[in-house]
Amino acid sequence: MEVPSCFLNGPIQCSCGKVHVVPIKKIAVVNNAQYAIAEYLERSHYLKVLLVADTNTYDAFGRTLLRYLQGKGFGVDLCVFPRRNGLLPDEGSVATVVGQLESDGYQSVLAVGSGVINDLVRYSSFRKSLSYISVPTAPSMDGYASNMAAMQFEGLKITSAAQTPEAIFADLSVLTASPYEMLQSGFGDLVGKVISLSDWVLARTLYGEHFCQQSYDIVARPLAYVVENAEKLTQRDPEVVRSLFVGLINSGIAMAMIGNSRPCSGSEHHCSHYWDLLAYQGKRNHASHGLQVGYATYWMLRFYRKLAELDVLRKPLELQVTDEFKHYAQEFYGAGADEVIQAQCDKAAWLSANAAVCESVQMGALHAALQPTLSMLTRVEQALETIGISKDLNFVGLAKPVLRDTFLHAKELRARYTVFDFMQGQGVLEVTVDQVLEE
Ligand SMILES: [Zn+2]
Ligand SMILES: [Zn+2]
Repeated sequence: MEVPSCFLNGPIQCSCGKVHVVPIKKIAVVNNAQYAIAEYLERSHYLKVLLVADTNTYDAFGRTLLRYLQGKGFGVDLCVFPRRNGLLPDEGSVATVVGQLESDGYQSVLAVGSGVINDLVRYSSFRKSLSYISVPTAPSMDGYASNMAAMQFEGLKITSAAQTPEAIFADLSVLTASPYEMLQSGFGDLVGKVISLSDWVLARTLYGEHFCQQSYDIVARPLAYVVENAEKLTQRDPEVVRSLFVGLINSGIAMAMIGNSRPCSGSEHHCSHYWDLLAYQGKRNHASHGLQVGYATYWMLRFYRKLAELDVLRKPLELQVTDEFKHYAQEFYGAGADEVIQAQCDKAAWLSANAAVCESVQMGALHAALQPTLSMLTRVEQALETIGISKDLNFVGLAKPVLRDTFLHAKELRARYTVFDFMQGQGVLEVTVDQVLEE
């Protein structure tokens, strides 16, 4: 499985009617990636670079890369964070990277690592108007190709505008040797796309939301392959690890093509965001993003099974943003209440503006549109089990009443239409939540 290079370095006039621009020049997943990186730096005339890593990722690939590049005559300075755990993308870490970039003469920055290192470099290099090259060391999340940086300033998680990497080079043997929890996390984040893609098809079929088959396909293909080969992933089969990584990279490309996270973040991510919020409120411990998304996927596929059992599509109930809801939002979301209320107002306006599309759709047509993902649900469930993402209630520290609240309220966090909104519109959300929790 390879990254579809035809979508890189656009603009591309797509059959969906949009022009897609993915400003990444090159993506390669190869053994001995240092050779490809040196070649790229030379061709780009990047003769002096800063290599940013943490101790783990320096051990995993940073040292190899440094020695090779120095041997080839490149000027390479190091910025290695000494912590092995818990590095945060915060003010202090940014100051460290930006401080080193102050000394002039760097032509590019190499981010050798996974989530936090890439967020830090994406943000810091953007601030200094320097290009950056991502050198992922684990297939652990779908953000490598992103142009947004997940930062933490004044203790708060924020998403900040930054830049996409100019190029991404991953060493396959390094990805294959990454810690198992990182493979699990990446698997969880990728497998969740079976739900987000379904939510997208739901919104397209019922409300005419813009849809791009190309973006859908570049995510769905590696997803199906990895689900079919989950057993081999536990044995670190290099081709399956490569496909997992390609699936995660393609997810980033699909989001860049659409201009937002629609293809890759639906109800399963909304559950995970809700759990992050509970952790932020001190009501539970944080768990890794990918594991949360994988766990949420277990539950969300049950909602899709319930949808597949419905025979008749009713005219959806109108979404009303009542005073009672606003009061509840103020109480529960505190400082975030205005954003939640606005999201629901936007959703209500969008639903009513597009209600006419819905009236002409039959349940049979909806089931047919969802068939490609519905047909995968059992395999996805088995694959989660195989990878060790358990459906045990304690897996990410959530009791049944919290899950019930999650399934009733996660849809409040975003304006995006998902299967939760579908169930709400059909008047069956509460009863479905209770059935799903009792099974
Ligand atoms: Zn994710
Ligand atoms: Zn398109």
